[in-house]
Amino acid sequence: MLNDITGVFRRVFTVITSLLLMIAGIGGIGSSPNEPKVKNVILFIGDGMGENHLEWTKEELGVDLVLDTLPIQGYSETADYLGLVTDSAAGATALACGVRAISGSIGVYPSDLLGVFSYPMSLSELAIEKGMKAGIVTSDSTSGATPAGFSAHTKSRDDERPITLQQLRSEIDLIWGAPTDSGTNKNISESNGFSLVTSLDDVDALPEGAKSFGQFPGKLWGLENEEGSTLSDLTAKAISLLDGEEGFFLMVEGAHIDKNSHANNKEGMMEAVQEFDKTLQVALDFAQADGETLIVVTADHETGAIKKTNGQFGFTSGSHSGVNVPLRVYGVESFIETGASMKNRMIPVYIADKLGCEKDEFPRQIYATAFEF
Ligand SMILES: [Zn+2]
Repeated sequence: MLNDITGVFRRVFTVITSLLLMIAGIGGIGSSPNEPKVKNVILFIGDGMGENHLEWTKEELGVDLVLDTLPIQGYSETADYLGLVTDSAAGATALACGVRAISGSIGVYPSDLLGVFSYPMSLSELAIEKGMKAGIVTSDSTSGATPAGFSAHTKSRDDERPITLQQLRSEIDLIWGAPTDSGTNKNISESNGFSLVTSLDDVDALPEGAKSFGQFPGKLWGLENEEGSTLSDLTAKAISLLDGEEGFFLMVEGAHIDKNSHANNKEGMMEAVQEFDKTLQVALDFAQADGETLIVVTADHETGAIKKTNGQFGFTSGSHSGVNVPLRVYGVESFIETGASMKNRMIPVYIADKLGCEKDEFPRQIYATAFEF
């Protein structure tokens, strides 16, 4: 009886969701020129990184950024489902799942915030379904909103334990970041088939093909964690583990551009931008040698509303803003016209297209077992 009722609800929900998606104009993947499909994808998210974060850093420190050397240079529009300034949860959901979300929610539809009936597939899940490897590296806690968007489906970014448990139930090969309360429990990791790693030595000692949950000590603030490793060190190691015949999808988040911008900490922000840019160089070196890797760099939103007035850059708020953020691409001929902008939720749709997905493969609705979440 309960199953019957659930089945009816599910069918009704499917019709409603399909109609909503149609109204929202999400029709799947557009046609693309005859480019060879890519094998590996590395998606960089500079949390809170606006164009003026880059301009200010270059001007103040007199440095060049690797970001500026990528051949395709456009912008991403970041509004959330309600048309408001987004948070990292809705931003990550758009970038991971190709759908608009309500701020605060992780990988669920606005019409089903509990994910009881269905949820949108993420790029990590798509990669795994295609037989690719998948990884997440962040300088935030592993249960932070951005890594969660690529590894969990839940109504709230604050659901720290459910997010961690979903990550540990996933087929993602590596999830590495700063510690999260429930993630540091070795038993929880190991009972789910993940090796808990807390140092690069632990990573080097992993058995061939082992899944790993990285809880690197400290806040990874700006430059390095308490072990002395950096976002670029972890990313280099992740790429070397994921690289193989199957291809891989890797999401790398630089979290502290946002955190320092909330605090209006100019020096910290610039350090974080530089570390993020240095990490991009690591990926670019790999992609240039490999020749089959797509690199996409963007942000979930801008933080700090940095403006230039009277020839001087400065923060004008301690919050997120709605301005378009950089979207830089390496490894394909087409993605976006230089100077043009696209909605953030179209970025993973284009990535799926470059991986050779058919129109109905992504974005895609996954039917949940009732009360799964
Ligand atoms: Zn923020």
